[in-house]
Amino acid sequence: MFEKVLIANRGEIALRIHRACREMGIRTVAVHSTADNNAMHVRLADESVCIGPPPARESYLNIPAILSAAAITGADAIHPGLGFLAENAEFAQIVGEHDLVFIGPSPEHIRLMGDKVAAKRTAQELGIPVVPGGQAVTDLDQARAEAERVDFPILIKAAAGGGGRGMRVARDKAELALQFPVAQAEAQTFFGNGALYLERFLAKPRHIEVQILGDGQGSVVHLGGRDCSLQRKHQKLLEETPSPGLNMAERQRIYDLAAATMRKLGYKSAGTLEFLYQDGEFFFIEMNTRLQVEHPISEMITGIDVVREQIRIAAGAPLGYRQDDIKFSGHAIECRINAENPETFAPSPGVIQRYHAPGGMGVRVDSALYQGYTVPPHYDSLVAKLVVHGSTRNECLMRLRRALEEFVISGIETTIPLHQKLMASEAFLNGDYDIGWFERTFNGKT
Ligand code: ADP
Repeated sequence: MFEKVLIANRGEIALRIHRACREMGIRTVAVHSTADNNAMHVRLADESVCIGPPPARESYLNIPAILSAAAITGADAIHPGLGFLAENAEFAQIVGEHDLVFIGPSPEHIRLMGDKVAAKRTAQELGIPVVPGGQAVTDLDQARAEAERVDFPILIKAAAGGGGRGMRVARDKAELALQFPVAQAEAQTFFGNGALYLERFLAKPRHIEVQILGDGQGSVVHLGGRDCSLQRKHQKLLEETPSPGLNMAERQRIYDLAAATMRKLGYKSAGTLEFLYQDGEFFFIEMNTRLQVEHPISEMITGIDVVREQIRIAAGAPLGYRQDDIKFSGHAIECRINAENPETFAPSPGVIQRYHAPGGMGVRVDSALYQGYTVPPHYDSLVAKLVVHGSTRNECLMRLRRALEEFVISGIETTIPLHQKLMASEAFLNGDYDIGWFERTFNGKT
């Protein structure tokens, strides 16, 4: 097992990884920008190294600085967390070349799934249904021909995209001509790669994803699914498991398919296959070759620590259990609490005046906040995850409502009031929502 792990990330996820390491008797090294001198993950880690100024490209994305920090501290492995370098195949490769272990999948698998066009092709070859479309298109003429084949309405997506950004809907040929160059320019700016592909735009799908763990030695299991349909601008707000929109047979079908596919691929580490579900059909959209923000809900219903498993697998340990050994129990929901105005979603960085996290049975809070801490303006606005477990969905909802009432974060604005409004929404309580529901009919209104 590793003796020392460097955590190449920040915020709640850095803390999450630190906790798993600590429970395994592994020492931790925090790396941080100058904006994060007083961050919780820096305070709790055994050692810390400042790797640059606030802008992420000069610190959390600064590969030479991170490798130097690993060398100076004598770390033997690097956990990339999520975002930043987590899906950077080159980084994973360089880490390996420096006699360090990358806690994640192989660079080949990261590269394969990072290219959306290649990922969809691979999924199809492995027997997973995909959304119609998915061919790379380089100019408007090609796009027109592809749109003809796929049929309108279509979604224009960036091949190197991520985080729900850079997608545009075109309902007809005229809109395609208008949106295509804009999407191309956006993809170039955001992702440094103007490559696009088109996909049939589904009207009211649910976003269903499956958590996978593979050891790269022939064993792959699933930890069930997650319904992430509660979204605003393609960004997830709340996730739950199991999905209230699927019956048992449908769930089992997609979980088993996802695990079987990853077994064929020989996948190693944690990963997530994302699908859209509509009218009884599943369509693969992408795979994330990393830990995800919403992983705790899967941990709550299975009792399996996903980060611990990632670390064990990276150290060469076999999974050591089979699918049948995993017992699923109850229902779990995660609320993403962002430092944002709950109505306009404008970022709200600043000093935390008062902080009180809820507790009690079935309640877990993953957050790096504390009283007196300053939320810096440079990074993602997620500041806390409230994760609740109950024996039934109803119990889970009652507990969540109670926990939200107890949660105090003052000094900045947060999306807690938005989640409270959600808990009062009939449609949400009935589990009756799709990926467009929030923006179409709810949007924070009661
Ligand atoms: P990203 O990598 O940017 O997150 P995804 O392909 O995972 O992009 O899609 C993100 C979200 O966009 C999905 O959760 C869903 O809400 C929406 N979406 C993606 N593809 C489609 C589609 N073909 N039709 C309708 N909505 C889609």
